[in-house]
Amino acid sequence: MDRKQFIKSLGILSLTGVSMKLNSLNSIFDKSAPTERMPLLFVGHGNPMNAIEDNAFSREMKAIGKTLPKPKAILMVSAHWETKGTFVTAQDLPPTIHDFGGFPKELFATQYPAPGSKWLREEAKKSVTLTNVELNEDWGFDHGCWSVTKNIFPEANIPVIQLSLDYGKDAQYHYDLAKQLSSLREKGVLVIGSGNMVHNFGYVQIKNNDFNAPFGHDWALEANEKFKKYILTDDHKSLIDYKKQGREINLAVPTPEHYLPLLYTLALKEKNENITFFNDVALAGSFSMTSVMIK
Ligand code: ZN
Repeated sequence: MDRKQFIKSLGILSLTGVSMKLNSLNSIFDKSAPTERMPLLFVGHGNPMNAIEDNAFSREMKAIGKTLPKPKAILMVSAHWETKGTFVTAQDLPPTIHDFGGFPKELFATQYPAPGSKWLREEAKKSVTLTNVELNEDWGFDHGCWSVTKNIFPEANIPVIQLSLDYGKDAQYHYDLAKQLSSLREKGVLVIGSGNMVHNFGYVQIKNNDFNAPFGHDWALEANEKFKKYILTDDHKSLIDYKKQGREINLAVPTPEHYLPLLYTLALKEKNENITFFNDVALAGSFSMTSVMIK
């Protein structure tokens, strides 16, 4: 019996004179019913304009969103929040941060008014023992978060918290920390990593004046294929040791912040889960939008 049928049956109960409070019944139901294990996402966010533009990437994100079960809350690991130590956003209504320059007014006016989640920040604190996850009231939703959630969950009615990236730690540490979040999936939490597997501003080459026009340097295309091969074969060791995987991978990941969110997603994958790629496109020479869904 699902929740809907169960609540419906309450009508019959009240007719027969049996009275129980809906709230107490709901809480019994919440504790006894197993929650569906949430999928996992790594989303290539690319140009912040993807948040408001109707283009191939935003359309694909929207399409993926429609296939997802409704999460109880979202835990977002964005490339754009690096800290010393590990933090979660702690506001009940986190502000939308416009952490970029040189974009149209329309993008600066964009808001993502999803609530925060006291429940999830406490769950995250409890789950992680590798470090003390601290509360942060100064950040909010950066564009790595909202350029993705605005497409995937446009109604902004699902609570979101962000988890920061400790810039002092290596890839193995981030992978291990992510693993400690595994119980959240069973509790209805959708974990999303937001970055770009191939992300190097040093080799940008824009075609037809369009940043989003598909084009990748040979090394960018090779890195993209290598990443996908490692992901599909669950070769997480090679992905953690990415610096040892040759020239193309080192060019793809000159700094770790856009890459590490991928490890948060992969660390939570269970054996035998299916992997789907979407937005598998290289652009502007030295970026890829390649995104991963696991379920
Ligand atoms: Zn970014």
